[in-house]
Amino acid sequence: MKIKEIHIYRHDLPVKDGPYTMANAKVYALDTTLVKLVSEDGTIGWGETCPVGPTYAEAHAGGARAALIEMAPSLIGAPIWPLALYRQMNGALNGHNYAKAAIDIAAHDLVGKTLGVSVADLLGGAVTDKVPSYYATGVGAPDEIARIAAEKLKEGYPRLQVKVGGRPVEEDIATIRKVWEVLKGSEMRLALDGNRGWTTRDVLHLSAACRDIPFVLEQPCSSIQELERIRPQLSHALYLDEMAIDLNTVISAAGTGLVDGFGMKVTRVGGLTPMRAFRDICEARSLPHTCDDSWGGDLIAAACVQVGATVHPKLFEGAWLAAPYIEGNYDPENGIRIGGGYIKRPQGPGLGVIPDESQFGAPTASF
Ligand SMILES: [Mg+2]
Repeated sequence: MKIKEIHIYRHDLPVKDGPYTMANAKVYALDTTLVKLVSEDGTIGWGETCPVGPTYAEAHAGGARAALIEMAPSLIGAPIWPLALYRQMNGALNGHNYAKAAIDIAAHDLVGKTLGVSVADLLGGAVTDKVPSYYATGVGAPDEIARIAAEKLKEGYPRLQVKVGGRPVEEDIATIRKVWEVLKGSEMRLALDGNRGWTTRDVLHLSAACRDIPFVLEQPCSSIQELERIRPQLSHALYLDEMAIDLNTVISAAGTGLVDGFGMKVTRVGGLTPMRAFRDICEARSLPHTCDDSWGGDLIAAACVQVGATVHPKLFEGAWLAAPYIEGNYDPENGIRIGGGYIKRPQGPGLGVIPDESQFGAPTASF
């Protein structure tokens, strides 16, 4: 079975009650890119990639579309099977994993629909249909973040991620102390996400000052070298997120013992094909990790939920979704929603969601 048509769409996702604030960025609306693959028999597969503005990662929305337009002509007539298609993409363009991810997700959707099985089945089989999520706060005042922690604990979230950095570290320490007053004695797990915004000085200070609070430090500093420097002195587990840009980095970070786990984004690592390898590398080293993405609509959310459902439960840190922060769904019926801190895995073939493509308007490019 071969690919007959490729269509690329641009779509705006408004942030609910925006902006969303991180150490290095404020997000008001997301420019997302959708890919529709059509096979010889007319079966359709959808994929998506959605950088959080141009400063969160080495990625931007215009770059995704340019890379897709560069690759698309050479993918017409290519096999629909994801690994073979991935090799063909690598032959057409070096790097640009986040653009390749949209095609790779669409190929999984297409193959799932062709065979009548879910993407989770293609990835080895779901171990649950109730996929844990986690809630991420913005950077905020101690009392406000503690209020959110209490609310999310009550809603049933198994894990909370508090965004920190970009301000005096004393404010971060005060925030964590307030949050811990709320969470202490509960089963909710806690992560602090610095989003590359801290100095090594501040991380060491914070980790020593909060030695009594069990949390994970996610990507506190911006380079691997800084993390290597602070690692021996930390009192907390260290996770890699933004710097885990590809499988090569993951293998090094896991192999050298630099980290205790990962925050992993499906599109950053290049889609579901590399995500599957990532999952298996982590299982071999017993490293916990998330399966989420940096924003995006129902298609990315469904991809995260389908692969997340296949992760060994003891290693799964949950799927963060943009769903609570954005308006509307692509699939009005089976759109991905979080309820009580968990996500129901969609049950149809492929990704299990069928977008209402009239929302996307005319394609920006077709091949
Ligand atoms: Mg993170």
